[in-house]
Amino acid sequence: MDARTCLKKLEYVGVLAFATVGSDGAPKIRNISAIHYEADRMIFFTAKGKLFCRELLSDGRVSVLGYTKYKEMIRLSAKAVPVADAEQEYFIDKIFEEQPYLSNVYPNDTRKLAGIVFEIRDGTIEYFNLGVNPIYRESFALGEGNDARRGYRITEDCIGCGECLANCPQRCIEAGERYRINENHCLHCGNCAAVCPVHAVREGVLS
Ligand code: SF4
Ligand code: SF4
Repeated sequence: MDARTCLKKLEYVGVLAFATVGSDGAPKIRNISAIHYEADRMIFFTAKGKLFCRELLSDGRVSVLGYTKYKEMIRLSAKAVPVADAEQEYFIDKIFEEQPYLSNVYPNDTRKLAGIVFEIRDGTIEYFNLGVNPIYRESFALGEGNDARRGYRITEDCIGCGECLANCPQRCIEAGERYRINENHCLHCGNCAAVCPVHAVREGVLS
Protein backbone atom coordinates (compact mmCIF):
# COMPACT_ATOMS: atom_id res chain seq x y z
CA MET A 1 0.00 0.00 0.00
CA ASP A 2 1.15 3.57 -0.63
CA ALA A 3 -0.30 7.07 -1.12
CA ARG A 4 -0.92 6.54 -4.84
CA THR A 5 -2.81 3.30 -4.27
CA CYS A 6 -4.93 5.02 -1.63
CA LEU A 7 -5.80 7.79 -4.12
CA LYS A 8 -6.77 5.09 -6.64
CA LYS A 9 -9.03 3.46 -4.09
CA LEU A 10 -10.71 6.81 -3.39
CA GLU A 11 -11.29 7.16 -7.12
CA TYR A 12 -13.08 3.78 -7.15
CA VAL A 13 -15.25 4.85 -4.20
CA GLY A 14 -16.37 7.82 -6.30
CA VAL A 15 -18.46 9.91 -3.92
CA LEU A 16 -16.35 11.18 -1.02
CA ALA A 17 -17.21 13.03 2.18
CA PHE A 18 -15.37 16.36 2.47
CA ALA A 19 -15.24 17.89 5.95
CA THR A 20 -14.22 21.52 6.39
CA VAL A 21 -14.13 24.10 9.20
CA GLY A 22 -17.03 26.57 9.03
CA SER A 23 -16.70 30.29 9.76
CA ASP A 24 -18.39 29.57 13.12
CA GLY A 25 -15.63 27.06 13.96
CA ALA A 26 -18.02 24.10 13.64
CA PRO A 27 -17.37 21.10 11.37
CA LYS A 28 -19.22 21.00 8.01
CA ILE A 29 -19.46 18.03 5.69
CA ARG A 30 -20.48 17.52 2.03
CA ASN A 31 -20.45 14.71 -0.49
CA ILE A 32 -18.34 15.50 -3.55
CA SER A 33 -18.01 13.44 -6.72
CA ALA A 34 -16.89 16.11 -9.21
CA ILE A 35 -13.30 14.98 -8.86
CA HIS A 36 -10.45 14.41 -11.30
CA TYR A 37 -7.59 12.21 -10.11
CA GLU A 38 -3.94 12.35 -11.07
CA ALA A 39 -1.29 10.01 -9.70
CA ASP A 40 -0.26 12.38 -6.91
CA ARG A 41 -3.08 14.90 -6.59
CA MET A 42 -6.82 15.25 -6.38
CA ILE A 43 -8.63 18.05 -8.25
CA PHE A 44 -12.26 18.90 -7.56
CA PHE A 45 -14.98 21.27 -8.72
CA THR A 46 -17.40 23.33 -6.69
CA ALA A 47 -19.35 26.58 -7.16
CA LYS A 48 -18.00 29.93 -6.01
CA GLY A 49 -21.29 30.81 -4.34
CA LYS A 50 -21.27 27.84 -1.99
CA LEU A 51 -20.29 28.12 1.66
CA PHE A 52 -18.02 25.14 1.00
CA CYS A 53 -16.02 27.26 -1.45
CA ARG A 54 -15.74 30.14 1.00
CA GLU A 55 -14.54 27.78 3.72
CA LEU A 56 -11.87 26.41 1.40
CA LEU A 57 -10.74 29.90 0.39
CA SER A 58 -10.59 31.23 3.94
CA ASP A 59 -9.23 28.20 5.83
CA GLY A 60 -8.51 25.47 3.32
CA ARG A 61 -8.23 22.60 5.76
CA VAL A 62 -10.15 19.61 4.54
CA SER A 63 -10.56 16.01 5.59
CA VAL A 64 -11.67 13.70 2.78
CA LEU A 65 -13.11 10.30 3.63
CA GLY A 66 -13.89 7.26 1.52
CA TYR A 67 -14.97 3.75 2.53
CA THR A 68 -14.61 0.82 0.16
CA LYS A 69 -16.84 -2.24 -0.01
CA TYR A 70 -13.91 -4.20 1.42
CA LYS A 71 -14.21 -2.24 4.70
CA GLU A 72 -11.22 -0.05 3.96
CA MET A 73 -11.39 3.48 5.36
CA ILE A 74 -9.15 6.01 3.64
CA ARG A 75 -8.85 9.52 5.07
CA LEU A 76 -6.91 12.32 3.42
CA SER A 77 -6.18 15.31 5.67
CA ALA A 78 -4.82 18.23 3.72
CA LYS A 79 -5.09 21.83 2.65
CA ALA A 80 -7.01 22.51 -0.56
CA VAL A 81 -5.97 25.44 -2.76
CA PRO A 82 -7.42 26.75 -6.05
CA VAL A 83 -5.54 25.52 -9.12
CA ALA A 84 -3.72 28.21 -11.08
CA ASP A 85 -5.98 30.62 -13.01
CA ALA A 86 -4.51 29.40 -16.30
CA GLU A 87 -5.59 25.83 -15.48
CA GLN A 88 -9.10 26.53 -14.17
CA GLU A 89 -10.92 26.21 -17.48
CA TYR A 90 -8.96 23.13 -18.51
CA PHE A 91 -9.84 21.26 -15.32
CA ILE A 92 -13.49 22.36 -15.33
CA ASP A 93 -13.81 20.87 -18.83
CA LYS A 94 -11.88 17.75 -17.78
CA ILE A 95 -14.11 17.10 -14.75
CA PHE A 96 -17.30 17.67 -16.79
CA GLU A 97 -16.03 15.32 -19.48
CA GLU A 98 -15.36 12.59 -16.91
CA GLN A 99 -18.66 13.19 -15.04
CA PRO A 100 -21.32 13.74 -17.72
CA TYR A 101 -24.16 14.21 -15.18
CA LEU A 102 -22.60 17.56 -14.25
CA SER A 103 -23.71 19.03 -17.57
CA ASN A 104 -27.31 18.71 -16.39
CA VAL A 105 -26.45 20.60 -13.22
CA TYR A 106 -24.42 23.36 -14.90
CA PRO A 107 -25.37 23.37 -18.61
CA ASN A 108 -23.39 25.22 -21.27
CA ASP A 109 -21.22 28.06 -19.97
CA THR A 110 -22.91 28.34 -16.56
CA ARG A 111 -20.19 26.01 -15.25
CA LYS A 112 -17.47 28.52 -16.09
CA LEU A 113 -19.23 31.44 -14.43
CA ALA A 114 -20.14 29.45 -11.31
CA GLY A 115 -17.27 27.04 -11.04
CA ILE A 116 -13.93 26.94 -9.33
CA VAL A 117 -11.47 24.07 -9.17
CA PHE A 118 -9.35 23.23 -6.14
CA GLU A 119 -6.46 20.82 -5.79
CA ILE A 120 -4.97 18.76 -3.01
CA ARG A 121 -1.28 17.98 -3.49
CA ASP A 122 0.13 17.64 0.01
CA GLY A 123 -1.37 15.89 2.98
CA THR A 124 -1.55 12.86 5.22
CA ILE A 125 -3.36 9.69 4.21
CA GLU A 126 -4.60 7.23 6.81
CA TYR A 127 -5.47 3.73 5.61
CA PHE A 128 -7.56 1.60 7.99
CA ASN A 129 -8.74 -1.87 6.95
CA LEU A 130 -11.40 -3.49 9.14
CA GLY A 131 -12.00 -6.30 6.62
CA VAL A 132 -8.88 -8.30 7.51
CA ASN A 133 -7.88 -10.20 10.61
CA PRO A 134 -6.08 -8.68 12.39
CA ILE A 135 -7.24 -5.24 11.36
CA TYR A 136 -4.61 -3.18 9.59
CA ARG A 137 -3.70 0.51 9.56
CA GLU A 138 -0.93 2.58 8.03
CA SER A 139 -0.22 6.26 7.26
CA PHE A 140 1.35 7.81 4.18
CA ALA A 141 2.58 11.22 3.14
CA LEU A 142 1.04 12.71 0.00
CA GLY A 143 3.45 15.09 -1.72
CA GLU A 144 5.07 17.37 0.84
CA GLY A 145 2.68 16.22 3.57
CA ASN A 146 3.71 14.00 6.44
CA ASP A 147 2.81 10.54 7.69
CA ALA A 148 2.58 11.49 11.36
CA ARG A 149 -0.11 9.52 13.11
CA ARG A 150 -1.70 9.30 16.51
CA GLY A 151 -1.92 6.14 18.50
CA TYR A 152 -1.10 4.33 21.71
CA ARG A 153 2.35 3.46 23.00
CA ILE A 154 3.72 1.84 26.13
CA THR A 155 6.27 3.82 28.10
CA GLU A 156 9.21 2.75 30.27
CA ASP A 157 6.84 2.75 33.28
CA CYS A 158 5.56 -0.68 32.18
CA ILE A 159 5.93 -3.37 34.89
CA GLY A 160 5.11 -6.26 32.56
CA CYS A 161 1.90 -7.39 34.29
CA GLY A 162 0.17 -8.42 31.03
CA GLU A 163 -3.21 -6.80 31.79
CA CYS A 164 -3.14 -4.79 28.55
CA LEU A 165 -2.55 -7.85 26.38
CA ALA A 166 -5.32 -9.78 28.14
CA ASN A 167 -7.80 -6.99 27.34
CA CYS A 168 -6.67 -6.10 23.82
CA PRO A 169 -9.37 -7.08 21.27
CA GLN A 170 -6.79 -7.42 18.49
CA ARG A 171 -4.06 -9.11 20.59
CA CYS A 172 -1.64 -6.65 19.03
CA ILE A 173 0.55 -6.21 22.11
CA GLU A 174 3.81 -8.12 22.36
CA ALA A 175 4.99 -9.35 25.75
CA GLY A 176 8.47 -8.49 26.96
CA GLU A 177 10.30 -6.71 29.73
CA ARG A 178 8.44 -3.68 28.44
CA TYR A 179 5.30 -4.61 26.51
CA ARG A 180 5.01 -3.17 23.01
CA ILE A 181 2.02 -2.25 20.82
CA ASN A 182 2.08 -3.22 17.16
CA GLU A 183 0.55 0.00 15.85
CA ASN A 184 -0.29 -1.48 12.43
CA HIS A 185 -2.92 -3.70 14.07
CA CYS A 186 -4.15 -1.35 16.80
CA LEU A 187 -7.83 -0.32 16.87
CA HIS A 188 -7.18 2.74 19.07
CA CYS A 189 -9.90 1.40 21.40
CA GLY A 190 -8.05 2.48 24.55
CA ASN A 191 -8.57 -0.75 26.54
CA CYS A 192 -4.86 -1.06 27.26
CA ALA A 193 -4.71 2.42 28.77
CA ALA A 194 -7.90 1.79 30.78
CA VAL A 195 -6.60 -1.35 32.50
CA CYS A 196 -2.93 -0.49 33.00
CA PRO A 197 -2.34 -0.34 36.78
CA VAL A 198 0.62 2.05 36.48
CA HIS A 199 -0.67 4.31 33.66
CA ALA A 200 2.16 3.26 31.38
CA VAL A 201 0.07 3.55 28.20
CA ARG A 202 -0.04 6.95 26.53
CA GLU A 203 -2.03 8.24 23.59
CA GLY A 204 -0.59 10.86 21.27
CA VAL A 205 1.43 11.47 18.13
CA LEU A 206 3.70 8.50 17.44
CA SER A 207 7.30 9.15 16.44
S1 SF4 B 1 -5.72 0.61 21.91
FE1 SF4 B 1 -6.96 -1.28 21.89
S2 SF4 B 1 -6.30 -2.38 20.07
FE2 SF4 B 1 -4.74 -0.85 20.50
S3 SF4 B 1 -3.22 -1.91 21.73
FE3 SF4 B 1 -4.65 -0.90 23.14
S4 SF4 B 1 -6.17 -2.48 23.61
FE4 SF4 B 1 -5.08 -3.15 21.76
S1 SF4 C 1 -0.92 -3.21 31.63
FE1 SF4 C 1 0.58 -1.57 31.78
S2 SF4 C 1 2.14 -2.37 33.15
FE2 SF4 C 1 0.93 -4.11 32.52
S3 SF4 C 1 2.06 -4.93 30.74
FE3 SF4 C 1 0.55 -3.51 29.96
S4 SF4 C 1 1.59 -1.53 29.79
FE4 SF4 C 1 2.84 -2.87 31.11
